[in-house]
Amino acid sequence: MSDDSHEHQSFETRAIHAGNTADPLTGAVVPPIYQVSTYKQDGVGGLRGGYEYSRSGNPTRTALEENLAALEGGRRGLAFASGLAAEDCLLRTLLSPGDHVVIPNDAYGGTFRLFAKVVSRWGVEWSVADTSDPASVRAALTPKTKVIWVETPSNPLLGITDIAVVADIARSAGAKLVVDNTFASPYLQQPLALGADVVVHSLTKYMGGHSDVVGGALVTADAALGEELAYHQNAMGAVAGPFDSWIVLRGIKTLAVRMDRHAENATKVAELLTRHPKVTHVLYPGLPDHPGHEIAAKQMRNFGGMISFRVQGGEAAAVEVCNRAKLFTLGESLGGVESLIEHPGLMTHASVAGSALEVPADLVRLSVGIENADDLLADLTQALG
Ligand code: PLP
Repeated sequence: MSDDSHEHQSFETRAIHAGNTADPLTGAVVPPIYQVSTYKQDGVGGLRGGYEYSRSGNPTRTALEENLAALEGGRRGLAFASGLAAEDCLLRTLLSPGDHVVIPNDAYGGTFRLFAKVVSRWGVEWSVADTSDPASVRAALTPKTKVIWVETPSNPLLGITDIAVVADIARSAGAKLVVDNTFASPYLQQPLALGADVVVHSLTKYMGGHSDVVGGALVTADAALGEELAYHQNAMGAVAGPFDSWIVLRGIKTLAVRMDRHAENATKVAELLTRHPKVTHVLYPGLPDHPGHEIAAKQMRNFGGMISFRVQGGEAAAVEVCNRAKLFTLGESLGGVESLIEHPGLMTHASVAGSALEVPADLVRLSVGIENADDLLADLTQALG
């Protein structure tokens, strides 16, 4: 449960203090890593701190979960072994056979795979919508729609969805709005305040921030739904371990300063790409000609560190740029302090090939890190040839 005393603090202060109470035994200012599976009971059922078994609850995980709830302005935060584990728990809690889900036409490939190859086998139906277009979302609704899923900015096309508008659509349809806030992080965007019911995170990305942990989270606006999800989190068991919880908590303390630098560097990279003769399209919501620029400016504090672009020469040329980059490391994932480059069609989004979510073959995705911007610009200039 979110600590009420942090409610009036600014984001940067909450990032450092929420959940991070000093250890009562030693006064250590950082929560210890409670690397433990079980807890001594004072007589049967006599739990000292409310903890009985670390799948059900662990103090280091609790610290992270309180921090997550405070940062997203939610009533309950829950930490999982990965982003997909969080999504799986959410979908199996909210949906039953016969229910229908609206999913975006641009989303992380693994999220699509979870719907198309796993959840659909349990009798859940789904339709694809362009969530940046409210008419497309309305058209995809059926009387059985229980969930509208939004990713904004989206992976990898950096599409922007108006969260408040889709929240209204969801409310009128009696459906829950789920927003994957991985690309923005709660520093840049807080979907619950805009009417979303649940926020999803891959903590692996900006929240952890150092490419050294895999984790996921759910944060709910409503305490009762949070309780239901906590029940399922324990029943399904894909929880975040104590060390992983601790390392994410540590990463979150610098989230605000990192995100500022990510956005500053990304703006410079986007400007360079816009001027480059071999680049045909630059997808970055910070650019004034991006179709979602105004909505992003309204619902985000800044435009983030992710950029995708398309190059002349098709797939071969895009692969060549990825292979030639040196400082931008060729690899999947995103959101770490180090810059990464990848080819979504062959890498992170290979699982959407042939579907409505297929991505262009000439697309390159960048996760712009917090290195010196001039070094990043020089590397991209040489990689583009
Ligand atoms: N959501 C988004 C937007 C992602 O980019 C990813 C992973 O890349 C996930 C969810 C899944 O998270 P994880 O890889 O931690 O399972």
